[in-house]
Amino acid sequence: MRFDIITIFPDFFTGIFGHGVMKRAMAHGLIEAHTHDLRGFTHDRHRTVDDRPFGGGEGMVLKPEPMMDAVESLGIAAKAERDPSRETVVLLSAQGSRFTQPVARELSRLERVVLLCGRYEGVDERVNELACDRELSIGDYVLSGGELGAAVIIDAVMRLIPGVLGNQDSSAYESFGDGDEQFPAPGGGSGEVPRSTHGSGGLLDYPHYTRPPEFRGLAVPEVLAGGDHAAIRKWRRERALEKTLRNRPDLLEKAALSKEDKAFLDKLR
Ligand code: SAM
Repeated sequence: MRFDIITIFPDFFTGIFGHGVMKRAMAHGLIEAHTHDLRGFTHDRHRTVDDRPFGGGEGMVLKPEPMMDAVESLGIAAKAERDPSRETVVLLSAQGSRFTQPVARELSRLERVVLLCGRYEGVDERVNELACDRELSIGDYVLSGGELGAAVIIDAVMRLIPGVLGNQDSSAYESFGDGDEQFPAPGGGSGEVPRSTHGSGGLLDYPHYTRPPEFRGLAVPEVLAGGDHAAIRKWRRERALEKTLRNRPDLLEKAALSKEDKAFLDKLR
């Protein structure tokens, strides 16, 4: 999968592409990410990318010509001819629809995602009309530029691409994962805990612990060291339910809940 990012700060991405899962995915040829300096598409001595807004008001607006030239330089199909199952052009915008895990999943199935990073008061709206398939916001707050949003989107999308994470089911059973059992349980049912019965299904993830068994007076819950897989499963499911109720009760409305889950939640409420 290929990402193209149009930005006035291409260096912003150097650190982001140079670490962890992203670096590995690039080294293995699973993803490509290319930054394009918007100023490279200007034609004046000052490499001007912005101008004052029509109608007056605060701030500056990114001009349409360099942005359109940058998009068109990428060899991506014109908006009307674009195949939405292969490629998409995204405008990062606080006014966009919310970027969520299902959107990340949708994007992870494409061959190419182009991300346009706004700055100042944003991008001339005609770029949105002429070139973009969607506007995405990473949350209800205003950032100084689209670069952080683009980085968030790339990170969330690329880890859903098959082969990027070592253990393929580790994204399916995370928070917001569908946990739809499309992957075999780790260990192939050889007695190892099948994660699908305690994680996700629309819930937040359960809490994780590692060594040491005791840290600053806090012990790892006994059940996790006991080897009773049914008890571990139940404990994890209940902790995931508890955490979701406490931090994101809205998710419970759409989560796949069993009779036991509902009874457990009723006790907590
Ligand atoms: N005037 C805009 C508004 O009130 O909606 C805010 C512009 S913001 C200062 C500059 C750029 O940052 C935007 O063009 C967009 O690319 C990016 N940006 C800001 N908040 C964002 C968010 N929540 N999600 C994605 N991109 C965002």
